[in-house]
Amino acid sequence: MQNDQVFPELAVLRKTFEQGITRDFSWRRSQLLALEAFLVEREEDIADAVHDDFRKSPAETFLTETGYLRGEIRFALKHLKSWMKPHRVSIPLIYQPGKGSYSREPYGVVLIIGAWNYPLNLSLAPLISAIAAGNCAVVKPSELAPHTSKLIAEGLGRYVDRRAICVIEGGVEKTKALLEERFDYLFFTGSQSTGREVMHAAARHLTPLTLELGGKCPCIVDEDTDLRVAARRIVWAKFLNAGQTCIAPDYLLVHEKVEGELFGQMREAISDFYGSDPRMSPDYPRIVNRHHFHRLEKLLAASSSWSGGITDEDDYYVAPTILQGVTPGDEVMLLEIFGPLLPVIAYSDIDAALVTIRSVSQPLALYLFSSDPKLQDKVVRHSCSGGVCINDLLFQASVSRLPFGGIGSSGFGSYHGKAGFDTFSFQRSVLKRSIFPDPDLRYPPYGRRKLRFLKRIVTLFH
Ligand code: NAD
Repeated sequence: MQNDQVFPELAVLRKTFEQGITRDFSWRRSQLLALEAFLVEREEDIADAVHDDFRKSPAETFLTETGYLRGEIRFALKHLKSWMKPHRVSIPLIYQPGKGSYSREPYGVVLIIGAWNYPLNLSLAPLISAIAAGNCAVVKPSELAPHTSKLIAEGLGRYVDRRAICVIEGGVEKTKALLEERFDYLFFTGSQSTGREVMHAAARHLTPLTLELGGKCPCIVDEDTDLRVAARRIVWAKFLNAGQTCIAPDYLLVHEKVEGELFGQMREAISDFYGSDPRMSPDYPRIVNRHHFHRLEKLLAASSSWSGGITDEDDYYVAPTILQGVTPGDEVMLLEIFGPLLPVIAYSDIDAALVTIRSVSQPLALYLFSSDPKLQDKVVRHSCSGGVCINDLLFQASVSRLPFGGIGSSGFGSYHGKAGFDTFSFQRSVLKRSIFPDPDLRYPPYGRRKLRFLKRIVTLFH
C-alpha cells in the first residue's frame, strides 16, 4: 500500500508520470540538458564537496565523476531519438491483415540508491538512463558522502523538473522506509549484503531491479608483457580513490618469473605518482570513515610482508600498499578489500591461476596484461566476470557503448549508454489487426475437419 504521508514527493511524481509528461522526447532532452547545466555550472562546488568527503583531487573528480557524466549525457542526447523509435516487425500470413511493432516504454517512478565511493557518478549516471527512458525518479545518494549528498539534494532541484525528479537524503533507516514503498523499478549500487535486503524488499512488491554490487576483481600479469606499462596502469587503477573503487584490481596474479621486476616497477610508479610520502600528495584521497579505516588496518595486521603500510587514524590515511607472499587462503583474500592494499599471488601455471579466480567469486571486472592473443582468448573463455579489460584497467566502464554490470555475486543488470536506456524501460508489443475478414475457422465448434485444417496452417506460417 502507498504511504504518501511518509514521502509526499512520491504522489507528485506518480501524478506527473500518469499525465505522460516524461514520455515526450522534448521533456527528456530538456532534463538531460538541465542535468548537464548542473554539472557545468556547479563544477567547482561539486569538486569541493567530493574533496570534503574524502579528499579526492579536482582532477580525479573531473575524470571519474563530472567529466564522465557529461560524456554520458552527450551520448544519450545524440542517440535518444533512435533509441525511442518503435521497431516494426513483419506479421505472418495467418495473422494478416495486421501490423506489429514494439517500443521501449518507461517503467514509471523509479528509485535509485547510490553508493558513496563515486558519490555523484553512482547517483546521477543511473538518473541519466532513467530520464532518457522517460521515467520519474527518486534519487537517494549515500549518507557516507554527506557533502556530495547535500549538494545533489540542494543543487539538482534548481535545474531539473521537480514534478518528476526528486532527491531524498538519509541513511539506512530512511532507505529502508523508502523500500517499503512501491516503486516501478529499483536500481541499487552498493554492497552484497545490502543488495540482498534490497532484493528482499523488491520481492514484496514484485518490483524489477538491477543490483550493481562489488567483489574481488583479479588482475593477471603474464610474463609476456611490458612490465613498466603494466605496473604504472595497475598502480594508477588500484590507488585511484585510495582503492575505494568497485572495479579496482582487488588482487594480482603474477607469473613467478616476473614477480620481482613487477614489484620494483610498481614501487617506482607509486613514488612517481604520489612522491616519497603519499600523505603529502594532493592527489591521494583518504579512507571514507573510521569503520573502513579500522577494517583495512586489521587486514594489514593479518598480512606478513608488505611495502607501504603506513597508516594514520587522525586522517584516515592508509598508504598505497603492496602485500607480498599472499596465498589464496589468507584473510585478505576472503572479502572485497575496497582500499589501498594490493595482495600479490605468484603463479607458474595459468590454469591454476584461473582455478584461483573461479574459486574466489564472480567479479565485476577481470584484467589481464599479456601480449599473447592465445592467452588472452583462453583467459576470457575460462573465466566469468561482468566485464574484461585487456592490457589496461577501469576503462571498460568509461565506454558508453559497452554495457556495465556484474554477474552472480557482483550483481545483475547493466547500464551506461543504450544498456541504461534498456534497463530503465521494458519492451511493449502492439499488434493492430483489421476487423475484417473474420473467418469462422478459429471459433468453435471445431470438429475433426477444422482441427485437421488448423494443424496444417498454424505451424506453417510462423
Ligand atoms: P552499502 O551497501 O553500505 O550502501 C549503499 C546504499 O544502500 C547507501 O545509499 C545506503 O544508505 C543504503 N543502505 C545501507 N544499508 C542499508 C540497509 N540495511 N537497507 C537499505 N539500504 C541500505 O554500500 P557502500 O558502502 O555505500 O558501497 C560500497 C560497496 O558498493 C562495495 O561493495 C562496492 O564494490 C560496491 N560498489 C559497486 C559498484 C558497481 O557499479 N557495481 C559501484 C560502486 C560501489
